[in-house]
Amino acid sequence: MILVLSPNTRTDSAEYRQLMAHLAGLTGIATRVHNEVGIEQTLTEVYLIGNTKALPVEEMRNLPCVEQVVRVSEEYRVLGRHHDDHRSTHFDYNGVRFGQDTLHVFAGLCAVDTLEHVESMMAALRDNGQVCTRMGAYKPRTSPYSFQGHGKACLPYVFELAGKYGIKVIAMEVTHESHVEEIRDALFRTGNATGVMLQIGTRNTQNFELLKIVGRQQDFPVLIKRGFGITLDESLNAAEYLASEGNRKVVFGLRGMKTNMGDPHRNFVDFSHVPVVRRLTRMPVCIDPSHSVGLRASSPDGILDILHVTAQGVIAGANMVLVDFHPVPSKALVDGPQALLLKELPLFLEDIRIARAAYEQRAALARRHQEAELQPVSQP
Ligand code: PEP
Ligand code: MN
Repeated sequence: MILVLSPNTRTDSAEYRQLMAHLAGLTGIATRVHNEVGIEQTLTEVYLIGNTKALPVEEMRNLPCVEQVVRVSEEYRVLGRHHDDHRSTHFDYNGVRFGQDTLHVFAGLCAVDTLEHVESMMAALRDNGQVCTRMGAYKPRTSPYSFQGHGKACLPYVFELAGKYGIKVIAMEVTHESHVEEIRDALFRTGNATGVMLQIGTRNTQNFELLKIVGRQQDFPVLIKRGFGITLDESLNAAEYLASEGNRKVVFGLRGMKTNMGDPHRNFVDFSHVPVVRRLTRMPVCIDPSHSVGLRASSPDGILDILHVTAQGVIAGANMVLVDFHPVPSKALVDGPQALLLKELPLFLEDIRIARAAYEQRAALARRHQEAELQPVSQP
């Protein structure tokens, strides 16, 4: 059970002390307090752990400071959507709002290769009104002989250029706890010119020790990719590891499943799970059309498969699109064949706007239908 307290409840107030004293007197119930410090307010949640079945919701709601009581099911306790759960479905980071009601495009390099490529990418983003990007510095590769990313050596120029071009959030994969420290240190040295969303890649979705470390810090939000060979439930539990350690600024990423059934695509596109994740959890949902499709094929309508699946994810309500671009794909050190060209960025963004507008119309239509169903039938 979760007790959501009134915003800005002070822990030194008499009411708070009264509440905690009451909870301490409940037999077999332990408490864990989580504070979420936002721009406008601090939200405090008290988790009651143990046999909470006997606690009446109404009684708990009448306790001092308590605004909302959520009876959680076993699954995804922190990030899940539970019965009568009115907790928020968004978070803010570095001036950008990430929620189940927003949409951000993270177009960028799969892997940082040269300073010049980073700069042309960021200039194109700025020219197209974008404030987010992806830049891989630590690359988990199938072969030990493949380029592994420039690591911390590239961070100073990546962060400085991001500041120069107004980029506010960079999605960057980390595969080891030392990477988090290297990123923190390099950002500090640039006077925090930009922000970073730490990415947990599909190969590390169930690296529980990494999840715990990334979950314990609250400086950076996290994009966790779905594991490519495990169930959705297993991947959502992996996301819950981050939140149970304290970090609720989590975005869940769909990137396709590993099976030959998806051929000729690199992975079997799983964007039909966008609404499923939004229903089961309060996380914003990201789609990665590049790693799902893996090639630049197009259909007879002239639309690239990568654009088709992006539109499919966006029209289903996706909140973030992580996508590979490269100024010269033939020179890319990782995943050149799936990179879109900088001159395709305006087209890509316009195509997304069309799909998003269609999604909004579909959601409005569904709401009108629901409201009509609720209207009492008028008597003749
Ligand atoms: C990536 O986004 O660069 C990446 C390696 O993705 P994934 O973990 O989904 O394979
Ligand atoms: Mn890649």
